[in-house]
Amino acid sequence: MKACPEAQRRVGIIGGGVAGLAAAYRLCQRGFQVHLLEAGPTLGGLVGTFEIGGGRIEQFYHHIFSTDTTIAALIQELGLADRLVWHESKVGIFYDGRIYDFVTPLDLLRFTPISLIDRLRLGLVGLYLRRQKEWRRYESITAREWIIKYAGRRNYDVVWGPLLRGKFGQRADDISMAWFWSKIHLRFASRKGGPLQKEQLGYLMSSFGLLVDVLGERIRQMGGTLETSRPVQRVVVENGRAVALEVGGPKGQKVPCDAIIAAVPNQVFLRLTPSLPEAYAAKLRGVQYQWALCLVLALKRSLSPIYWMNISDRSIPFLALIEHTNFIDRSHYGGLHVAYLSNYLDEASPLLQMEIDELCRLYFPHLGRINPAFSPEWVADRWLFRGPYAQPIIATHYSDAIPEPRTPIEGLYLANMTQIYPEDRGQNYSIRLGEQVAALAASDLERAGTAVYH
Ligand SMILES: Cc1cc2nc3c(=O)[nH]c(=O)nc-3n(C[C@H](O)[C@H](O)[C@H](O)COP(=O)(O)OP(=O)(O)OC[C@H]3O[C@@H](n4cnc5c(N)ncnc54)[C@H](O)[C@@H]3O)c2cc1C
Repeated sequence: MKACPEAQRRVGIIGGGVAGLAAAYRLCQRGFQVHLLEAGPTLGGLVGTFEIGGGRIEQFYHHIFSTDTTIAALIQELGLADRLVWHESKVGIFYDGRIYDFVTPLDLLRFTPISLIDRLRLGLVGLYLRRQKEWRRYESITAREWIIKYAGRRNYDVVWGPLLRGKFGQRADDISMAWFWSKIHLRFASRKGGPLQKEQLGYLMSSFGLLVDVLGERIRQMGGTLETSRPVQRVVVENGRAVALEVGGPKGQKVPCDAIIAAVPNQVFLRLTPSLPEAYAAKLRGVQYQWALCLVLALKRSLSPIYWMNISDRSIPFLALIEHTNFIDRSHYGGLHVAYLSNYLDEASPLLQMEIDELCRLYFPHLGRINPAFSPEWVADRWLFRGPYAQPIIATHYSDAIPEPRTPIEGLYLANMTQIYPEDRGQNYSIRLGEQVAALAASDLERAGTAVYH
């Protein structure tokens, strides 16, 4: 073994989602040689994009909150600050055949499906949670149990239960109160003028795919290697240390590395690294994920004035209706209205097996319940996107379930959504995690002061 400067040390990165890209970017800045391998044909992972009416848009709806400071700082650093816009959010609930606005405390007071006493209780419980700072005290109870106990059964069934279902589908009842606390706490915190002020949501014009592109460009400019359509097949481990990546695709290849960051879901990581010690592997297996299923419609007419509509009606087969063009003007998409019909599903759900025509036949009659004027003729185009490993299930005592970023194999690190807690997973935290794990790998390499292992 001989000492070597950073420039000769190579860090291999598996996965070109925002976590892998953020790690690659920071390591290049620190002078390391970076080689990132992405299985898909493009970079971005869950932030993949496509085009509607000449405008670029996410396959899965994306916005950021004002508390998402890491991504905002990165956008600024990359010279994209003028592309980041902030608009008031328009949130609603569809319940019992009606759309209710659900943005301000006044909207809550007007929400007649629950009694006045329950509305007041909901408001007070929201304010109470906002003031709580210590999430650990909520770790051992599910959000469902806590909400029913303190806000009441009706508030769970009509208001907060549907919000949880909108994120976790059939697994909503299993979700930890610590996760729910963080969601409420951060959503209130994002209203800088206090709870009476409307919430602002951020969007990167030309889509968050622009951030992915610019990150990729900067990494390449700093000498990093980024390859797409290059799935990693195996992490090569020798004498308890990760030493190379075995790559698939027509070229095949072994990429020697001094450290490796896996920015892929747990199940993929397990498959690539069969030699992981059992205790760590069991942790990885222990976290379950939901799939995301999004039907995207380009429409000639708008479905409603709401941007984000939680569906509080179990007979409707999707969980949320997100009309993107009630947030970002439709002129950016050739004048078309864009709506996402969103679901989070267990892997075995029959909805995941449906082709787009079948899913439209299932969903469209329900759009007529939300807007009675709706006709399938409004649909100018449609797309269907499925995302495996889209949402980890955050159960009680989740802090015990989180896999350590520094794995038991020397030189091998993990950065994925299962490690984001108690906050809701999102680009901001994936970028923060990518940066943190990059710093960890870099400091380990620098401290070892070692060794070219290849
Ligand atoms: C429906 C939905 C809505 C969302 N809404 C928002 C939102 O409004 N705001 C927000 O900030 N965030 C949102 N998110 C979350 C955000 O998209 C994620 O937090 C973030 O994209 C995760 O990035 P990642 O890099 O950790 O993972 P991923 O994006 O999953 O990246 C992992 C990458 O690894 C690659 N890979 C897998 N196997 C291999 C292999 N063998 N070799 C090489 N590469 C491999 C994959 O192809 C993928 O590109 C949403 C997500 C979903 C699903």
